Amino acid sequence: MNLTKEIDQIEVIRRVGKCADELGLEAYVVGGFVRDLLLKRPSKDLDFVCVGSGISLAQRVADSFDHHVPLSVFKNFGTAMIKLEDWELEFVGARKESYRHDSRKPIVEDGTLQEDQDRRDFTINAMAISINSASYGDLVDPFDGVKDLKRKIIKTPLDPDTTFSDDPLRMLRAVRFATQLGFDIEPGTFDGLIRNSERLQIISGERIIDELNKIILAERPSYGFKLLFVSKLLHQFFPEMVELQGVDSVGDKSHKDNFYHTLQVLDNICESTDDLWLRWAAIMHDIAKPATKRFNAKVGWTFHGHEDKGARMTPKIFRKLKLPMDERMKYVQKLVRLHLRPIALVNDKVTDSAVRRLVYEAGDDVDDLMKLCRADVTSKNSNKVKRFLANFDKVEQKIQEVEEKDHVRNFQPPVSGEEIMEIFGLSPSKVVGDLKEEIKEAILEGQIGNNKEQAIELMYELAKAKGISKKEN
Ligand code: ATP
Ligand code: MG
Repeated sequence: MNLTKEIDQIEVIRRVGKCADELGLEAYVVGGFVRDLLLKRPSKDLDFVCVGSGISLAQRVADSFDHHVPLSVFKNFGTAMIKLEDWELEFVGARKESYRHDSRKPIVEDGTLQEDQDRRDFTINAMAISINSASYGDLVDPFDGVKDLKRKIIKTPLDPDTTFSDDPLRMLRAVRFATQLGFDIEPGTFDGLIRNSERLQIISGERIIDELNKIILAERPSYGFKLLFVSKLLHQFFPEMVELQGVDSVGDKSHKDNFYHTLQVLDNICESTDDLWLRWAAIMHDIAKPATKRFNAKVGWTFHGHEDKGARMTPKIFRKLKLPMDERMKYVQKLVRLHLRPIALVNDKVTDSAVRRLVYEAGDDVDDLMKLCRADVTSKNSNKVKRFLANFDKVEQKIQEVEEKDHVRNFQPPVSGEEIMEIFGLSPSKVVGDLKEEIKEAILEGQIGNNKEQAIELMYELAKAKGISKKEN
C-alpha cells in the first residue's frame, strides 16, 4: 500500500524525508499518527523513527527552516521534539528493547525498524510509512495492522504474555484504545489481560490515571469499565468501584446492582458534558453504597447517609489514585454530598427556602448538580423517568426564580464581620460570628431579602435582644 497522497496533506513530512535523505538515514512516520491517518481521525502528534540518530535528524529539520523553530533535545532518552504551529514532531532512533523478568527497566539498544515495531503495543500502533524519496509513502505493516483496523480489533503484535509482562501499562492501553475507537479486544489478547492483570501493581499511579482518564473522556466510558472489571484490571487500582458490583436479596427484596447503575449514570452524563470532573462525580456519586448498606424488614435495602460518607471517601480515593487534591477534588466531593438534595426537593413540597439553601450550598455548581441528578435517573419504567425529569424541570424553574429574586448563588454576607465590629465597637469574638450567621439564616429562610438595608435592620434587632448596643462616638 502506498500512502503518498494521504501524507502529502501534511507539508512537513516531505521536508523531514528530504533531511533524512541528505543524512543518508532510513526514516518513517510511525505509531498513532499512521493509525489515525488510516482511520481519518484528526491527530496532532507526528512521531518519526529513523535507523540511526533521531536527535541529528531533528537538528537537521530544525536548521532547514529559515526562521527559528523551537527544538528540545532529551539526550538521556535519545529523543528530540520540534513544535511547529499546532503540531508536535517527535524524533527517535529505532530501538530494540529487552526485559528481564525481575526488573521493569528495559535494556534499550539501537535496532532496526522491524525491532522497533516488535516492541510496540498493538498491531494497529505498529505501522510505519517510509518517507525517504526512493520509497516515499510505502506502508510497512509487519503485523497486518490494516486488517485489524478493518476488523476493529486490538491485538498485540507478539505473544500477549510477552507484550504485557514487559510493560503492564499496555493492558490498560488496550482497554483505552478499545474504548476510544469502539474496537473489540481480540480473544487471545484479552486472555492475556486476564492472566497478567495483577502485574499492573508494578505500574505507577500517575501512568495508570492518565489512561483511566482517557477512558473516562471517551464517548461511552461504560464499555471501558466493563472491560476493566471483567479482566480484573479495575481490582488492581480501584477496589471501591469493584465493591459496587453485585445484588443482595433477602426474601423477595433485592437492590439494584450499583456498579452497572453507576456506569449508566456515567454514560448518561457524557451526553451532557465533556468535563472530566463532572464525569468523575458520576463515577463517585454512589461509591459509599456498599459501606452504608443495611437491610430493614419493612422497607428493604437502605443506603442511608451514602452521600455524606461518599463525600468523606472522595479525598482518600483521589489521593490514592493520584488525582488532583485541589478545587477539582472539592468540586467532585461537593456534588457527591449534594446529589440527593434535588431529589428530596421533588418528593417534598418545593419550598422557596429549601431551593434557596440548595443554591447557597451548591453555588455556581448548581447547574452541574442538576445534570448529575438527571443522569442519575436510570429506571426502566418510562413513566417513572418522565415523572422524575418533569419534577427536575420544576426544581430548575424554581432555582431560576429564587436566583433572580435573592442572588444567593455566590453568597456574600450583606453585612461583613468588620462592619459589625465597627458599629458595635466589638473585637473579633463569637458574638460577631453569631450575628453574621443569624442574618444569613434569615436570608436563606426568606424572612428578609438579601440586601444591606434589611440586613442592617435585622442586625440591630438581634443585637438589642443580645443586649449589645451601638458604639458611642
Ligand atoms: P494517543 O496519542 O491518542 O494517545 P498514540 O498511539 O499516539 O495515541 P502514544 O502514547 O502517543 O499513543 O504513543 C505513540 C506510539 O508509541 C504508539 O502508537 C505505540 O506505537 C508506541 N507506544 C506508546 N506507548 C507504548 C507502550 N507502553 N508500549 C509499547 N508501545 C508504546
Ligand atoms: Mg500520540
